[in-house]
Amino acid sequence: MPETIKYYSTNRHLDQVPGIIPFRKTVSFREALLMGQAPDEGLFMPGAIPALPLETFKALKGMPYTEAAMLVAQAFLAGEIDERTLRRIVDDAYTYEVPLENVFARKYIMRLDQGPTASFKDFAARMMARLMSALRDPGTRLNVLVATSGDTGSAVGEAFKGVAGIDVTILYPRSEVSGRQKKQLDTIGQNVRAVSVDGKFDDCQDLVKQAFSDPALVAFNLTSANSINFGRILPQIVYYVWAWAQLSRDGEPAVFSVPSGNFGDALGCEYARRMGLPVEKLIMPTNENDEFPRFLETGVYERVSPSRACLSNAMNVGHPSNLARFFDLYDGAVDRTGTVRRIPNLNEMKKNIYSISISDRETKKTIKRIYDQYRVLLEPHGAVGWRGLEVYLELYGDKPLCISLETAHPAKFPDEIRELLGINPDLPQGMKDIDQRSGEPVFLPANYGKFRKYLQKHLRITE
Ligand SMILES: *Cc1c(COP(=O)(O)O)cnc(C)c1O
Repeated sequence: MPETIKYYSTNRHLDQVPGIIPFRKTVSFREALLMGQAPDEGLFMPGAIPALPLETFKALKGMPYTEAAMLVAQAFLAGEIDERTLRRIVDDAYTYEVPLENVFARKYIMRLDQGPTASFKDFAARMMARLMSALRDPGTRLNVLVATSGDTGSAVGEAFKGVAGIDVTILYPRSEVSGRQKKQLDTIGQNVRAVSVDGKFDDCQDLVKQAFSDPALVAFNLTSANSINFGRILPQIVYYVWAWAQLSRDGEPAVFSVPSGNFGDALGCEYARRMGLPVEKLIMPTNENDEFPRFLETGVYERVSPSRACLSNAMNVGHPSNLARFFDLYDGAVDRTGTVRRIPNLNEMKKNIYSISISDRETKKTIKRIYDQYRVLLEPHGAVGWRGLEVYLELYGDKPLCISLETAHPAKFPDEIRELLGINPDLPQGMKDIDQRSGEPVFLPANYGKFRKYLQKHLRITE
């Protein structure tokens, strides 16, 4: 048996912070997956990042996506899950295409929008749901709590729909999700319940975080499926590895541009590079929630509060939860309130990462220009990513191989696309019947006492 990787908390050093008792133990992947978050409210981090030789990455050229998923999963999970189980999980999770669309020269859009809810979050959620199902204690029920600003919730809900022994509660901000997103969330049904919160995404995230650290709810086996769960991060390493293998020539490095909100997607790229994948630069464009690009420029971190409501609504995050992981990887520490406890190595960060804030105006202009010029269709998140890449290349000169991520399907933003381009994008397969589905959410105020009461009344403990 190979030595298994142990997971530690990002808060393990925070001795002097009132209210935090640092969690200094380490846990297995299984424990990290089922706990979701460390007991000290820190995020779990792998204590070692498995490095793979360049040849192993290169060998994925021409291979199906599931081979890349096996490679990454085995590197992290060897000794905890056997190969046959992993193979079954991966084959069951990844049944759809990952198009690499050429824009010009060797600049590509990677479309991560072909899953059941047409967002990149399907990739992580589907694998995580199956990992949880394989690793949970038989006989007990798991209760997944998710805060979503749009796409996480439906991806997670769909991924867990019908999975035995697991119930899902999804919180979303009532006035910040699009009509179609709301429809997707409210109508999943079965073991998945939607809660419409009178507040912002950050309020939803706070309610969920409080529930996780509430002793009164321990019996319910609460677990997260937000991007704070490492089980969500692991699958997001895979598409960087796979895309690079398909497009790279002679092992040349690639620039990746990743439209970013809670920074879980970009973190996948950061880990891929640390595993040995040749990544020349990780570009992390944000919308007008610009706390991170400002931090890289000034060294001063200030969360945006309240978060700004932008077109790319899944990225309306004033203090990204995975920032704690980025800081930790660069020897810094930031707590959940956004207070920096130790400044990370900024020079090293800037060597690997570039970030820029893209306004809604720029986002719209980009959608129009890229469609007019190349007939390539982007929605607001993908346009933020692409514009970030353009700015980077304008500032630092051309890099041959560049891959920008399209994280949602344009048909999820029909009004914007119609207004800008005068066309109606076709719905992807998984969403064709969306307007005919029916279902109602539960309505709650942004009040923790009320939320706790609701959970105590409705959650189940045993299978
Ligand atoms: C969640 C989401 C993002 C942001 O991803 P993070 O991992 O939170 O940075 C970008 N685009 C879409 C469509 C999303 O749903």
